[in-house]
Amino acid sequence: MSSLSLADIVAARRRIAGIAVLDTPLVPSPFLSQRAGTQVFLKLELAQHTGAFKLRGAANALGLLPDDTAGITCCSTGNHGRGVAYAAARRGIRAVICMSRLVPQAKVDGIKALGAEVRIVGHSQDEAQVEADRLVREEGLTEIAPFDALPVIAGQGTIGLELVEQLPALETVLIPLSGGGLAGGIAFALKRMKPSIRVVGISMERGAAMHAALQVGRPVEIAEVPSLADSLGGGIGLANRHTFALCRQHLDEVVLVSEEEIYRAMQAHYYEDRIVCEGASAVGAAALMSGRLGVVKGPVANIVTGRNVDMKVFTDIVNGRSVRLGGDLLEGSPYGE
Ligand SMILES: *Cc1c(COP(=O)(O)O)cnc(C)c1O
Repeated sequence: MSSLSLADIVAARRRIAGIAVLDTPLVPSPFLSQRAGTQVFLKLELAQHTGAFKLRGAANALGLLPDDTAGITCCSTGNHGRGVAYAAARRGIRAVICMSRLVPQAKVDGIKALGAEVRIVGHSQDEAQVEADRLVREEGLTEIAPFDALPVIAGQGTIGLELVEQLPALETVLIPLSGGGLAGGIAFALKRMKPSIRVVGISMERGAAMHAALQVGRPVEIAEVPSLADSLGGGIGLANRHTFALCRQHLDEVVLVSEEEIYRAMQAHYYEDRIVCEGASAVGAAALMSGRLGVVKGPVANIVTGRNVDMKVFTDIVNGRSVRLGGDLLEGSPYGE
């Protein structure tokens, strides 16, 4: 694969069947529909075996590896590592997952439970990456990159195929955005199949790497800071090969939301949709609820990317308590007040 094609995404869908859950539910959100003034649906990627969409990309990348692969490694904010660990266990391959200290314990535990080895290194994705690079060099492991690899992007893009089949009338798609494997893959598929669809990437204000890169026209270094949307943390890589170009070409815009808005949106998903999701998955609802998207044309599909939230943090939020973000305190308030 030297560049992405729709055929790669169609092939990925066949390759990952039986490992990832395909055709995850697309359910209406009466609450968000009322707030947006048009029909809003939630694409429930939290229904994956690993609780997040990243299993699609991991399963596709692993499915393309030769049988004599000695083992694999990756760096991850948690969900990619879990997807890789799951897919590796299914293939009987050794997996070593490298993560920074910013990754919540719940995610680390989930990965260990799948039988993978875990290395906690440094305070950023970049530092975890250094350890993954070392394992490739010194132990001959194969790296499964979290977003900037075509097999991973094609795997995430399978969500785009499903959306068009499940909701042919689709007009707007909201996609949580970090490294851009998800948004790049889905936007690529959607624009090939139905170019009129508005595709919006959504990140948190604190440390939005792809947004910063798109603003200046090239990947830039950004400081990684604690956020409720921990799965959206990390840079896009100064030597980014694929996702920056894909996002620049296929995303119509990128919208940023605040920590307060993510907090409110997690409450709304819980009290209104009866959904437990992590902060990264609530950014679409946050953008809709805050009016940051302007007038939205429906039907809208909002990707609810994962449910791997620390339950102490989650119950604090739904009970309106304040939560700690590194050295800062995010002031709580009960839902509806
Ligand atoms: C990784 C992740 C994202 C962002 O995906 P990218 O491909 O890095 O842009 C969004 N939500 C969740 C839950 C994730 O784990």
